[in-house]
Amino acid sequence: MCGIVGYVGPREATPILLDGLKRLEYRGYDSAGIAVVGDDGEVRVARSEGKLGNLTEKIASAPPPGRFGIGHTRWATHGAPNEANAHPHMAGPVAIVHNGIIENFRELRSELQAAGHHFESETDSEAIAALIADGLKRGRAPGEAVKAAIQRMRGAYAIAALFEGQEDLLVGARRGSPLV
Ligand code: GLU
Repeated sequence: MCGIVGYVGPREATPILLDGLKRLEYRGYDSAGIAVVGDDGEVRVARSEGKLGNLTEKIASAPPPGRFGIGHTRWATHGAPNEANAHPHMAGPVAIVHNGIIENFRELRSELQAAGHHFESETDSEAIAALIADGLKRGRAPGEAVKAAIQRMRGAYAIAALFEGQEDLLVGARRGSPLV
C-alpha cells in the first residue's frame, strides 16, 4: 500500500513532504518521489527507487524549492519498481500521485496514445495525468479537468494533483481508498 501526502502553506514544502512520507513508511513501498512548485511557477520532480533515504540523499544538496507540493511512496502494481515508474507522474503542466489501481488503464492509454500522448512509464497512473492534461487542453479549469478525468477512471484510487503556474492549488480525489 502506498502513501500520498500534500502540502500548501507558508513553509518550504520539501522537508514537510519528506516527513509526511516518513510517517507513511510503515505501509511498505518500493520507491518514492515528490513534486514541488517553485515561486517561478515551475514544477520540479525528484524520484528514487528504494528507500526514502535514497530520495533524501539525492535532493540533499539542492532540495526543490517551493511552498506547495505532493509526495508519494509507491507499491508497484503496474510496471517494475524503478525510478521511471515512481510517482509523481507528469503530463504537460500536471503532476499527480496515485494510490490504487485504474482497471481500465489499457483502454485509456490506447486512446490517449492515439491522441498523441507519449507515455514515459509502464504505470496505470500516468494515464490519470494524461487524462487531466487532455482536459486542460480542452479549456477546462484544473478542478474541472480532474472531475472529467475521474469520470473516465474505473477502480479504486486516491489521487493528488498540482499544476504548473497555478499557485497554492492542490486537487485531491478519492474512490474506495482513503484520503484525508
Ligand atoms: N498502480 C499504481 C502504480 O503501480 C499505484 C500503486 C500504489 O498504490 O502505490 O504505480
